[in-house]
Amino acid sequence: MDTNNNRVIVIGGGASGLFISNILLEKGFSVLLIEKKHQAGLKLRITGKGRCNLTNTCLREEYLKHISSPRFFEFAFDTFDNKALCSFFKNRGLGLVEERGGRVFPESGKSLDVFLNLLNPLEENPKAEIIKNCQAEHIIVRNKTAIGVSTSEGDFYARHIVLATGGMTYPSTGATGDGYYMAEELGHTVVRPLPVLVGLRTKDGYPGELQDFLVKNCEVSVINKSGLIKAKLFGDIYLDKYGVSGPVILTLSRVIAEDLDRGETLFLKIDFKPRLSEEKLLAEIRSVFAQRRTEEVSSVLRKWFAKQMLKDVLVKCGLNPKMMAKNLKEEDFKSILWYLKQRKQRIIGDMGWKEAIITKGGISLDEVDSRTMKSKKIKNLSFCGEVLDLDADTGGYNLQIAFSTAFLAAAGL
Ligand SMILES: Cc1cc2nc3c(=O)[nH]c(=O)nc-3n(C[C@H](O)[C@H](O)[C@H](O)COP(=O)(O)OP(=O)(O)OC[C@H]3O[C@@H](n4cnc5c(N)ncnc54)[C@H](O)[C@@H]3O)c2cc1C
Repeated sequence: MDTNNNRVIVIGGGASGLFISNILLEKGFSVLLIEKKHQAGLKLRITGKGRCNLTNTCLREEYLKHISSPRFFEFAFDTFDNKALCSFFKNRGLGLVEERGGRVFPESGKSLDVFLNLLNPLEENPKAEIIKNCQAEHIIVRNKTAIGVSTSEGDFYARHIVLATGGMTYPSTGATGDGYYMAEELGHTVVRPLPVLVGLRTKDGYPGELQDFLVKNCEVSVINKSGLIKAKLFGDIYLDKYGVSGPVILTLSRVIAEDLDRGETLFLKIDFKPRLSEEKLLAEIRSVFAQRRTEEVSSVLRKWFAKQMLKDVLVKCGLNPKMMAKNLKEEDFKSILWYLKQRKQRIIGDMGWKEAIITKGGISLDEVDSRTMKSKKIKNLSFCGEVLDLDADTGGYNLQIAFSTAFLAAAGL
């Protein structure tokens, strides 16, 4: 190892920690990467369902709309944007493909290849050392200057420290919020972390047979007690016994996280037939039941519902499955309409840290220089990745945050 004069310690071997370590080596620094788990990059390896949605090709202005604090992030993005990220990996031999919605994945379809692309150069370079199974506990500071890290394996010293410990989601990957405590000890403020991009639990979920049941093309709204629509999105959802998940719900969970955390009463309204107005759908229900008078209710309901949903529809609408269509009354038609378009389910929480994709909250951006990622409180200390109070929608934006902030933090040294 080099002398401490040229050494940078990176705490956390996730997406941002691995990435900044590579950039620091390119800049001629030596790197000591401290990783708590038996292996680095555990979360990176499960990203994008094992395929790693690296970034998104959308234009800058659109990109920034998906980020929680665009004004803080824009300098990092302008320094190392989505194009630069794609070039970085292509130049290192990793083929990329663009899919629906501008999502970029490795051509191989394996997040492992992204991980190895970042890990191998570190393992092969004598100026880099990775210590695994080593938990950083405190950042050692003298005269408001970071000089080292105290860990479960002893103390290490360096000219600069980078805190890249991630957030709190999927704690089995090592992200358990340690960085927040280390930063707080040094006087940094941590904005209350919340799990987001996560399924929502509703008061009465769906029956067992609807586990992860996909319903396409719904319109989902979040409504408050006064009936005000807080957010509305169109897309696919999954129903299960706790509530709902899927792309649309994940995005909504991010929008309403703070309201839910404050205890606001919120309801989810799923419109299963958004292309038909209530009037038209009610007319259609009346007409279909009139035409199929001699069939059982459950058979007629198949016109609007998948077989797996029938039990829930019948129970919630108070209908007897064996009843003849001709015996249904106007109030029964209205119940079916209610289920299809109007039903409000109270949101009672989210699926928590174990299932959330990302953490909202983290080290306050007011105390971090957006042009260098350096701490405004402690010299020789920088931050990158999810440990910061920065988060984004699904679609590759969160890994771009990790890589852009890491690149900028390295550029500032
Ligand atoms: C299931 C899932 C799928 C995802 N898919 C995508 C996707 O396809 N596209 C996308 O853009 N984003 C995705 N994300 C989000 C993305 O993974 C994160 O934004 C990104 O990993 C954050 O990088 P990071 O380096 O800040 O933190 P992490 O990757 O979480 O890394 C933090 C590292 O720090 C280590 N660490 C923590 N505390 C200590 C300590 N005290 N001492 C030493 N080491 C420590 C941890 O062990 C970990 O290795 C996904 C997230 C999840 C959970």
